[in-house]
Amino acid sequence: MRPVPSQRESQLSACVHCGFCLPVCPTYVLWGEEMDSPRGRLHLMKAEAEGRVPIKTPFVQRMDNCLGCLACMTACPSGVQYGRLIEGTRAVVEASFDRPLRDRLFRAMLFAVLPYPFRLRLVSAPLAVLTRLRDWFDFGSWLDWFPARVRALVRLAPERIGNGSALPERTLARGTRRARVGLLTGCVQRVFFSEVNRATARVLAAEGCEVVAPAEQGCCGALSLHAGREHEAKAFARRAMAAFERASVDQIAVNVAGCGSAMKEYGRLFANDPEWAGRAAACAARVRDVSEVLAEIGPARAPRHRLEARVAYHEACHLVHGQGVRIQPRTLLEAIPGVTLMTPREGELCCGSAGIYNLVEPEAGAALGARKMAAIGDLDVDFVATGNAGCLLQLVAAARAAGRALRFVHPIQLVDAAIRGRTL
Ligand code: SF4
Ligand code: SF4
Repeated sequence: MRPVPSQRESQLSACVHCGFCLPVCPTYVLWGEEMDSPRGRLHLMKAEAEGRVPIKTPFVQRMDNCLGCLACMTACPSGVQYGRLIEGTRAVVEASFDRPLRDRLFRAMLFAVLPYPFRLRLVSAPLAVLTRLRDWFDFGSWLDWFPARVRALVRLAPERIGNGSALPERTLARGTRRARVGLLTGCVQRVFFSEVNRATARVLAAEGCEVVAPAEQGCCGALSLHAGREHEAKAFARRAMAAFERASVDQIAVNVAGCGSAMKEYGRLFANDPEWAGRAAACAARVRDVSEVLAEIGPARAPRHRLEARVAYHEACHLVHGQGVRIQPRTLLEAIPGVTLMTPREGELCCGSAGIYNLVEPEAGAALGARKMAAIGDLDVDFVATGNAGCLLQLVAAARAAGRALRFVHPIQLVDAAIRGRTL
């Protein structure tokens, strides 16, 4: 989503170099390098736009180092639209920079698999077996022979893959219907966290929503969009938009922060497309994180049973910085009788997941995961809750690496357990 040159220039010039964004930037915190801070990257982007810096490896590496976590946007007093600028820069890089062959092949493999649930399931099944066996044998020694990116794939693979049973296309509301809500079932989410989708549909139905999960929706395009693969992102987005248009829903509930953030950007993504501009804006206006749907629908209808649990809430970057959704998930959790909500220190720092970041930049991703786990480990909790599939995978891997036995859930699973009176 490239801003037109004049807009881009004025957005780049909005930075007043105050440095307020530096302490929240995970790469600056890790390495203390100005050129790996938001201010440094903006300086480089401006130099590139003015033709003073070529799009070559040193420039591309600084841009690749950015997690796109958007913490700098929340911290910035000048309203610099960093998210649009880095996405635009990534699109330029993807269009004009020849990545080394190994890098190109690895990225091509990720984008040939991740957005497609069937392929992802095929590839993940053997990885999941490996992950389970890792508890019995010491794989560390032979894994060291493989490149860091392959080690990251094995490290991040979940031990279990969701049972894959598709959600029914229509789940009826309990009691009088309050809304007809579409549900994005996602690609990674559908394969690894199908139980989160089922919990989401149950909670929405219990609160009076008819839930429609169109079978033909596919990937929303978030992974591609955040990686600068704009053309691919648009193709996915068109298919998803058409599916939800046919479903005639009032709102589209999303339970993955990165997907919700991208779908709310559809209007801007298609702003210059006469055929899709209006449809994309209308679709984006309907998109809500599931916690927003529940907050907007009115007072809770379904009684919550007591759930004695200490819960650490990890804020997903694309929920808090990308969508400004901070209060609603906390309110949902705090409304469960017996739940004590805790906030880990350094909450503003990304956990290192960031779409495909922990796979393409495995060292930085693992370092941030370990740092986040140390912060969570300071708390004595039963559950860690977070509203993003990538964060869940990253935190589970970080806990495994640190030898910590913690339980990781999406907040909606705790709400679902409280409504059903079951333990998780
Ligand atoms: S998006 Fe995140 S990693 Fe990138 S510059 Fe901003 S704070 Fe740093
Ligand atoms: S906080 Fe905003 S204005 Fe200040 S250095 Fe960072 S991006 Fe620039």
